[in-house]
Amino acid sequence: MTAEKPKAVVLVSGGQDSATCLAIAASRGFECYALSINYGQRNIPELEAAKRVAAMLGAARHIVIGADLRQWGGSALTDDSVEVPKGPSEGIPATYVPARNLIFLSFATAWAEVLGARDVFIGVNAVDYSGYPDCRETFIRSFEQTANLATRGVDEGWKIRIHAPLQKLSKAEIVRLGTELGVDYSQTLTCYNPDAAGKACGVCASCTLRKQGFAEAGVPDPTRYR
Ligand code: ZN
Repeated sequence: MTAEKPKAVVLVSGGQDSATCLAIAASRGFECYALSINYGQRNIPELEAAKRVAAMLGAARHIVIGADLRQWGGSALTDDSVEVPKGPSEGIPATYVPARNLIFLSFATAWAEVLGARDVFIGVNAVDYSGYPDCRETFIRSFEQTANLATRGVDEGWKIRIHAPLQKLSKAEIVRLGTELGVDYSQTLTCYNPDAAGKACGVCASCTLRKQGFAEAGVPDPTRYR
């Protein structure tokens, strides 16, 4: 009889990084439970991509839960009156969604506790998104401490581990690693501003970084552009 695999919750947005993160979690021997959040993002086709990615990489289950951050907006991704910037910008970009990863990790931790999973994976990448405070390593480590005070493990003697395996990788390294692990990036959607058919704009900061990543990795870019 083979030993049961440990379970992990993996946050899956449908983008390049979270797909790679899911592949990494699976390659480390976890049975993966993929979690996507419908937060009122501009890119709803992203959630379709998340579904494809979870299926492609063999997630045991994929759920999408709603948390409508559009109610208060405050980001180019959740407020139509704020434009998605063309290309990278200085400081915290308009595409930053206030406290998004704090919210997402809280959901993921809650599900992990219910599943009996001790591991949560998030595909944050501080090299490219150092402008986002909730992608930084200090935040991830601090959240892990908080999660371990907020869950029953604090009384029962177990711990939640928050994994951010892409934290220090460049986009090119992410593409190379994901390609080795069998990620089909044509199934992912990274664009901040895709059309209704899920085709990428090719000019937003996210598309720009993604293109650079494929170019630097020497991997053909399978993205469907408008
Ligand atoms: Zn784009």
